[in-house]
Amino acid sequence: MLRIHHRLTIMLLLVFSPAVFASVLHFKNFGEDLQTKALAPHSTFHYELTRALAKAAGFTAEEAERIAVIDEATDAGAFTGEKGLSVTLQGTKRVSADGLYWHFARRDRDNVTNEFTYPGARNTCAYFSGSADMCGNNQPELDEIENWAVYGRATPSTGTPQISYDGGNAYQEVAGKSMEALAIYLHALADSYSHEACMKAEQFRGHKPRPLECTAVDWHLDEEYGRNENKQAGVSYTEEAALATWQVLKWFRQQNGLSANARWSDAQAESFIKKWISLEQALMRRELAVKVFETL
Ligand SMILES: [Zn+2]
Ligand SMILES: [Zn+2]
Repeated sequence: MLRIHHRLTIMLLLVFSPAVFASVLHFKNFGEDLQTKALAPHSTFHYELTRALAKAAGFTAEEAERIAVIDEATDAGAFTGEKGLSVTLQGTKRVSADGLYWHFARRDRDNVTNEFTYPGARNTCAYFSGSADMCGNNQPELDEIENWAVYGRATPSTGTPQISYDGGNAYQEVAGKSMEALAIYLHALADSYSHEACMKAEQFRGHKPRPLECTAVDWHLDEEYGRNENKQAGVSYTEEAALATWQVLKWFRQQNGLSANARWSDAQAESFIKKWISLEQALMRRELAVKVFETL
């Protein structure tokens, strides 16, 4: 009921105020699930959940904050976290020529070095075989992104993203094999799951009004958290995405000689992830992840 009301409001805004409508649409259109007094519209997965998992994996609070702020900024191009860290990125925005590369990347069964298997163990390039949008050289985009972010071996084929910490005055290249690059890779990794059902159903990368799997608002806000009377089509993708995030955070530490141990076992991470996803309200997901981040 609330959501229907919200849609009516949006429609009225369309009629009376194109400028306001544009900003509301921008928020609702992509499925950011939370806006608070202190935080701009953002994804509780990319920001709050990723930050909690990063700290649980052994990163310091400051490092976890930075990873999560950059992860969130990958979508709209800029984000300020609740500790005041402000990041602007160039070259990753979803509404840009490079949007498909960073937000609709295909994923292989295993990571690029074949040293671990991604949750679900699926090669999502396979959905596109014979279509007009096949993976180039049969290499999923995520392999290239991981190669750059974790091993510093490749340059993203859309060019290396640029990062600014002063509101966009001075930019520097995001170095490969860095925490900044890891954050962008984590974003692409999670998106490779949250957009996978549409790729599978339609051999399509992007959002469109139908089918359900391809919508932004209904899929990202409802299906991914099981907020649907009939089925829980999206929940398994969200769970796999969170487990993949956990796996990669730990893998990055291992590959980079970061010696502090994880604060959680895999079993603890898994049980937190399940509980977090079962919360249907974004604000409750935020509160649980914040509590974990602050008390770990
Ligand atoms: Zn994205
Ligand atoms: Zn999306």
